[in-house]
Amino acid sequence: MPESQINGTPQPAARPFPWICPQCRKKEVRRASIAYRTERLHEGRLIAVDIPNLGIPQCASCGELVFDIAADEQILEAVNTAAANPVL
Ligand SMILES: [Zn+2]
Repeated sequence: MPESQINGTPQPAARPFPWICPQCRKKEVRRASIAYRTERLHEGRLIAVDIPNLGIPQCASCGELVFDIAADEQILEAVNTAAANPVL
């Protein structure tokens, strides 16, 4: 899936797994699917989102989550959806 960064420095998101964990330094970070809940500011409002299957790099050793662009986009998309369909 090399679709970006043909020239220039490669983005962290384009590095092949496993990655080195920034927390425990073990080479155990692979893309995982987790249930994730967070809150984001969206147009001045705090929006709480639940993402049942967030695809995100996670350390298999210590559980550290390593946010990348793809994970962030999923969260942003969930925030936008939640903001457009408020649960009352
Ligand atoms: Zn780790």
